[in-house]
Amino acid sequence: MKPTLSAPTIGRYIGRTRIAYFSMEIALRAEMHTYSGGLGVLAGDTARSAADLELPMIFVTLISRQGYLRQEIDRDGCQVAHPDPWEPADYAVPLRAKIALPVEGREIWIRPWLYVLRGALKHTVPVLLLDTDLPENNAEDRTITDRLYGSGEGYRLKQEIVLGIGGIRILDALGFNVQAYHLNEGHAALLALDLLRRYPRPPDQVDANDIIYDVGPVRERCVFTTHTPVEAGHDRFPYDLVSRLLDGYVDMAQLKLLAGADNMNMTHLALKLSGYVNGVASRHAETTTRMFPGYHVRSITNGIHAPTWAHLSFAKLFNRHFPSWGLEPELMARADQLTNDDVWHAHQEAKADLISLVRARSHVKLSPDQPILGFARRMTSYKRPDLLFSDLERLISIGEQHPFQVVMAGKAHPADEPGRQMIQDIHRHIERLKGKVTVAFLPGYDMNLAQMLVAGTDVWLNTPVPPMEASGTSGMKAALNGGLNLSVLDGWWVEAWIEGVTGWAIGDDRPDHVPTAAALYDKLGIAVLPLYYKDRARWIWMMKQAISKVASYFNTQRMMRRYAVDAYIAAGMR
Ligand SMILES: *Cc1c(COP(=O)(O)O)cnc(C)c1O
Repeated sequence: MKPTLSAPTIGRYIGRTRIAYFSMEIALRAEMHTYSGGLGVLAGDTARSAADLELPMIFVTLISRQGYLRQEIDRDGCQVAHPDPWEPADYAVPLRAKIALPVEGREIWIRPWLYVLRGALKHTVPVLLLDTDLPENNAEDRTITDRLYGSGEGYRLKQEIVLGIGGIRILDALGFNVQAYHLNEGHAALLALDLLRRYPRPPDQVDANDIIYDVGPVRERCVFTTHTPVEAGHDRFPYDLVSRLLDGYVDMAQLKLLAGADNMNMTHLALKLSGYVNGVASRHAETTTRMFPGYHVRSITNGIHAPTWAHLSFAKLFNRHFPSWGLEPELMARADQLTNDDVWHAHQEAKADLISLVRARSHVKLSPDQPILGFARRMTSYKRPDLLFSDLERLISIGEQHPFQVVMAGKAHPADEPGRQMIQDIHRHIERLKGKVTVAFLPGYDMNLAQMLVAGTDVWLNTPVPPMEASGTSGMKAALNGGLNLSVLDGWWVEAWIEGVTGWAIGDDRPDHVPTAAALYDKLGIAVLPLYYKDRARWIWMMKQAISKVASYFNTQRMMRRYAVDAYIAAGMR
């Protein structure tokens, strides 16, 4: 259902807003294609909790008119990536404010659209969607805010200029008085550079290193959350490109001191200009500290917005027992008191919904009486979506002893050749397993499909190469619905895992240990599947442990209270 749009109401937010959250992607609703995956879903859940907690925040992102990608799987099992347009006018209203940024010697005009996100208590938070598709711009510039993570260095840098510099100037133009800026990943780091230009040093304090701006006041205002645990994953741009696009805008000598000597590294820039820096799980904060010695990297572990991710069957059960669970997910600590029948029926209802969806979308028939393993995430090498298929004979023999079924989904970035290859390989494996182990691959992984998958599967599988999974959040969504995680010990799972209680580990918890397929098969064949068939009462007891121990903590209500107290208030007081 489309929301009803009232007249632009940005005015009511201007006086009371104190914190601006910038993110390249935000998953506001499935029909608005302004996100690609985990980073955007986290930003969306952040905004939903900000609304529920009545935090004085505004969110800034790009309008991404052509979306990320619409995934089609062709007859050979290959991903075909189509544009994925959506209609902003159905959900948001264009504001009258417009600004011009000098880029590459011309002006790029930007207009914000306002989307109003409503919380559980009728409090709302504004979201600005930045748009360059304006008649003032030339044909090329009109497409800058079209494709999320579009290819091409110049294109990406222009997007980050629009997000960071455009975003902060639009807030100024609208009259906002922001105290703290939250950079969700390095993509928005240019906003800190724009802030820096407001604090020139008196000429007698400019030193031999050409430090002409004072970083202190900027660091007081910026909070940076990093999400990338490997050096190669950090966004960086060559300086010749930077000086071509931003000619005369920055002092290149000072920029190199802040963002690295060889390339403009957005993580370095954000680290240097933020007074509060955090990783998204404690393991990730440790990894980041090793990668960037000298910085104090704290950790605020990610969460999920519980009311968004609970299946209706579980939402009803929680409503009966803990009426305010949506606002206070801590109350779910008591979920171990629910009856076995109630939990099992809620789960089987969610499972039946998933089975119908799989039938409708892929013509694969699943049984409600066999466990379903779920694996849905970005298809990329480090997540090892093909690990389960490393030894098909072994997989088949495990299935002969204890039948199980698999449901998978996930998109590969069009430029990620190995990721696209994995999708094709998985489809080959599915063919070879036919009649022995039932595996369905559902195209078009998005928020809606994720809701069905996390709730309808029995076991949620996660097989990254440590320490590459900074946090991960889909396993939290599964646990909220009584799903049991079977996961490599990386990211958030290091904190949530209790063996045989909240789920199971694949391999052990040495940070440099990369578990093999054999470790996965052992745990699946020896612990997980036998338990499902031989001790259902213990299985349901584990489901309740997952809800009470995982969902009560790994949620964005707790996460945003942490950000508010530790990061935002501190930013106001530093
Ligand atoms: C939750 C979610 C993700 C993030 O899952 P990870 O466990 O971090 O891989 C990605 N995409 C969608 C659509 C989601 O709902």
